Amino acid sequence: MPGPGKWGNPTIPKDGWICGGIRDLAPDDGTPFEEYHAVCEMCERKRIRYQHLMRHPEWPENVGAGSVCAGKMENNKAAAKHREREARNRFERRRRWPSLVAWKKSDKGNHYISRDGIHILLYRKKNRQWGIRVSCEYTGDEKWGKKQFSTLKQAKLSSFVAHEYARDQLGWGIRVC
Ligand SMILES: [Zn+2]
Repeated sequence: MPGPGKWGNPTIPKDGWICGGIRDLAPDDGTPFEEYHAVCEMCERKRIRYQHLMRHPEWPENVGAGSVCAGKMENNKAAAKHREREARNRFERRRRWPSLVAWKKSDKGNHYISRDGIHILLYRKKNRQWGIRVSCEYTGDEKWGKKQFSTLKQAKLSSFVAHEYARDQLGWGIRVC
């Protein structure tokens, strides 16, 4: 009996896939699952929040799968489960990041935080948009982000990624997927 969705398609590879990353489909504004979820593109049944972007050398496009199908596609259910757990933790940390008590506000109205030797500074540009500066407390390296944000919260959420990236450059990072 052929499986559901693409599992029943004789031309698509059924194993040998690798995961190129996980996406959390939940928006930051608390939209309920019913409104944002996707359907696993492999079984075309399971409703999912976390999408594993699976790729295969013999298939032209990425397949966004749930963890169960991803595990079958890569012949390693435990790896897919573990990956999703790590990703969830990371997404949760990102969600909590803007409200950490470690954030401080300077007299000039800048907001800043120091974590893992990385200093993040959020400052107001002349056009009232928020910009991000990332600096390393050990090397003194600093980087001014090109993006700008209309709200402090958006800038803070984005600085989570900037912080992780800078930390990974230092070699302390944990890659999720
Ligand atoms: Zn599926």
